[in-house]
Amino acid sequence: MSRDNFHLIEKLKTRQTLTHDEFCSLIEERTPETDQYLFEQARTVRHHAYAHDVYMRGLIEFTNYCKNNCYYCGIRRSNHGVDRYRLTKEQILECCDMGHILGYRTFVLQGGEDPFFTDDKIIELVKCIKENHPDCAVTLSIGEKEKYSYKAFRDAGVDRYLLRHETANAEHYARLHPSGLSLDRRKECLFDLKELGYQVGCGFMVGSPYQTTQCLADDLLFIRELEPQMVGIGPFIPHSQTPFADSPSGSPELTLFMLGIVRLMLPNVLLPATTALGTIETAGREKGILAGANVVMPNLSPLDVRKKYALYNNKICTGDEAAECRQCMSGRMESIGYSLVVSRGDCNS
Ligand code: SAM
Repeated sequence: MSRDNFHLIEKLKTRQTLTHDEFCSLIEERTPETDQYLFEQARTVRHHAYAHDVYMRGLIEFTNYCKNNCYYCGIRRSNHGVDRYRLTKEQILECCDMGHILGYRTFVLQGGEDPFFTDDKIIELVKCIKENHPDCAVTLSIGEKEKYSYKAFRDAGVDRYLLRHETANAEHYARLHPSGLSLDRRKECLFDLKELGYQVGCGFMVGSPYQTTQCLADDLLFIRELEPQMVGIGPFIPHSQTPFADSPSGSPELTLFMLGIVRLMLPNVLLPATTALGTIETAGREKGILAGANVVMPNLSPLDVRKKYALYNNKICTGDEAAECRQCMSGRMESIGYSLVVSRGDCNS
């Protein structure tokens, strides 16, 4: 093992941050030995905060309409090959009812930025979910909104908000998004959400086109600055009908390494082992948990729309009923000595 990296992992564990240069060395000089050492340390920290519990989030992908045109995303506006859908309020409430029976105590409503779902519609929906299931947390993941909208959602009972920052390097951001979208605006939204008292999730893709080690170090330092309660990290996976169709997928090993680093930086963070990780690597989600993750997000969307929410190619779990997904996930977690718990799974800090 490289002595320097051993030392950097120890330093990260003690100080919960490193300099930009140190993060770059830690990432660039990875070896299988330093990977294993990092994961062991991340697990120790994770067990201290959350024992062997794994929190479940029921993911409801309620619309694949999107006004944005992010170059990497399969449901971008200009992809005319997408069969667009919106779930009705009744369908969404049914997903929650089914989820509740299956033991979910957090529902994540995720979608493209779809103007059909006005603030009033979202508020009405959230209020109904909260009324039907007062023991559950609601997470929104519907992109960039004005601060007054975020406030109205929060007042309606929304507990958490996921808005990946995508990359904390402004030049890189501009290579992944059209000119109307900016890193400054994305960050402003995240700080607004924090100020409004949400449990906030930022995050990024590993291996997105043009990403460098410097970009990853920027991501880590931004996470340090924001101090989010959740961090979503998954590999980039190309979608054949996007401008990045021919770009390679991100590395599963590097994705796991980033999960381990983030666990050491934020010991109490809610860190999902993502579906994208499970897509590029057999047992990717199990490996994610063993690298320090403590959340999984099985799909609760109706079966007939699953394939239509294709952010990237070959997405797993598009053909299984919600109950099968729950069952399968429970077996996967038990196979590595962890267990799914029936809990809202709030952040410990
Ligand atoms: N519209 C909301 C937003 O912008 O935050 C939420 C939906 S968006 C599709 C959810 C996340 O999917 C993005 O934050 C992005 O990181 C991820 N994603 C999109 N395309 C992807 C791809 N090709 N590979 C991996 N992840 C992707």
